Amino acid sequence: MSSKFDTIIIGTGLGALTSACLLAQQGQKNLILEQNYLPGGCTSSYWRKGFVFESGATTLVGLEENMPLGYLLKQIGINIKARQLEIPMKIYLKNGDILTRYQNLEQWIEEAERVFGPKNQKEFWNFCYKVSQFVWKTSLQQKFFPPKKINDFLQCIKNVTFSQLNYAQYAFYSTEWLLKNFDLLDNQLFVDFVNEQLIITAQNYLKEVNVLFGATALCYTNFPNYYVDGGLINVINPLIDYLEKNNSSVNLRENVKQIDYSNSSKSYQIITNKNEYESQFVISGIPLNNTLDIYEKVRKKFKSKVLQSSQLSSAFQMGIGFKCENKQKFTCIHHQIHLESGLPFLNTKSIFVSLSHAQDTTRTDEASQMVASVSTHWHNPENIFVEDKSILEKLVIKILVEKGFFEEKDVIYYHSSGQKSWEKWTGRAFGFVGGYPQFKHIKPWQMMESRLDNHKAYICGDTTYPGQGIPGTVLSGIIAFEKIRTDWKISN
Ligand SMILES: Cc1cc2nc3c(=O)[nH]c(=O)nc-3n(C[C@H](O)[C@H](O)[C@H](O)COP(=O)(O)OP(=O)(O)OC[C@H]3O[C@@H](n4cnc5c(N)ncnc54)[C@H](O)[C@@H]3O)c2cc1C
Repeated sequence: MSSKFDTIIIGTGLGALTSACLLAQQGQKNLILEQNYLPGGCTSSYWRKGFVFESGATTLVGLEENMPLGYLLKQIGINIKARQLEIPMKIYLKNGDILTRYQNLEQWIEEAERVFGPKNQKEFWNFCYKVSQFVWKTSLQQKFFPPKKINDFLQCIKNVTFSQLNYAQYAFYSTEWLLKNFDLLDNQLFVDFVNEQLIITAQNYLKEVNVLFGATALCYTNFPNYYVDGGLINVINPLIDYLEKNNSSVNLRENVKQIDYSNSSKSYQIITNKNEYESQFVISGIPLNNTLDIYEKVRKKFKSKVLQSSQLSSAFQMGIGFKCENKQKFTCIHHQIHLESGLPFLNTKSIFVSLSHAQDTTRTDEASQMVASVSTHWHNPENIFVEDKSILEKLVIKILVEKGFFEEKDVIYYHSSGQKSWEKWTGRAFGFVGGYPQFKHIKPWQMMESRLDNHKAYICGDTTYPGQGIPGTVLSGIIAFEKIRTDWKISN
């Protein structure tokens, strides 16, 4: 006989854990199934050769109550210990200039004017900041977006404000249009800067990202940025502890192979590599591409929503452990380095480098050591191959030496990973990560919503609205929960 649960949740990514925690708070008995030996998926950390490396995400925003992660933590009453960063990011431009992305808007505008010239920077950034504040405020007011059922529409209308109607027009314009509007499109240094910033926060370039998402992504560093000692797995672990204390279990190394719905018992059968389970609800916290592989019944319905490898990216990533006697020289831990020519094989134009915090003693065996996580996009991962990874590894180390991060002799250990490692770590189709990118032709209300069928199957994570990054992924989990709660009148 199979064991019975209220809800079975597939994966321990941040989207899945968000829905799971909110359901557990309502008294639901959940079983969370994770194929990996560690939880967290693309937001996780692992120990190797005396260093704690990040699996994927390194930057963290949104611990305030009006942001998705802060909202979740407040709802379930837990705290995450985090250090607020004084300087969120530094950018090394192709012309040799180093740009500091200050959080304070006035300070940032002054810096942008210094590097890109005074023309319209102030107007541009004031506008973007206003849009980003609006987007974050609205996201938690509109928990039924995109509306599909009558009740969703009623909830959206109930919460709609005049400013929401006013700002909605910007979903129809691209960030390229925005730059043109501020007469900034001829400023090539600025255009390159915007493109490289968008690719890490919106997964696409200015021609494709609409103004609502683009302005919000560009102002990522104007909101408080945080660092968590020991790695971002320490955002995941408190959520797992919460679940285990609230009538839920998390099974690691258990891979979901199939979902079936039985009309007679009105429940789901979940088949894994180890067991069979029965549940009233199911939430898929894995990408749409993977979900359709295991839930045959909805494959046809959502086929048109699935993005292919040519529209997606994996990541080339390096973990480097190095000796550093003077950690205090790093006043900033996140750095984007723009490259004169694209990286071989991948053709990407920048690398992103995140360091362990100088005061974090938990990520290295010895106090005089540090960890660097380096990543860049690997577009079209099913079809682009890297013939010799060691060429990329050596080049990345050379760039970091040139920029003064360390000397070659100080490198103690490094490893790299690409699409195959991602496929293994996360189980995601052809190792694509980072979520569904923003595309101009897909308006926010046309993005994948959280209901999978007419019964009780839902989806969240970085391929559903609003997806992407930690804030978007957590928001997708909040939206899936709200839809379940109102569809089925769940409360404790
Ligand atoms: C290199 C890189 C850098 C990034 N940097 C940042 C950053 O700095 N800041 C930021 O905010 N975001 C960043 N992101 C994005 C962010 O990490 C992700 O968007 C987010 O973590 C995705 O969460 P998710 O819930 O969609 O699922 P995932 O993290 O993909 O988790 C899905 C989980 O499901 C499990 N799983 C898959 N299939 C099955 C199955 N059949 N059965 C059981 N379990 C299964 C997987 O093992 C995985 O643990 C980065 C991502 C990458 C890859």
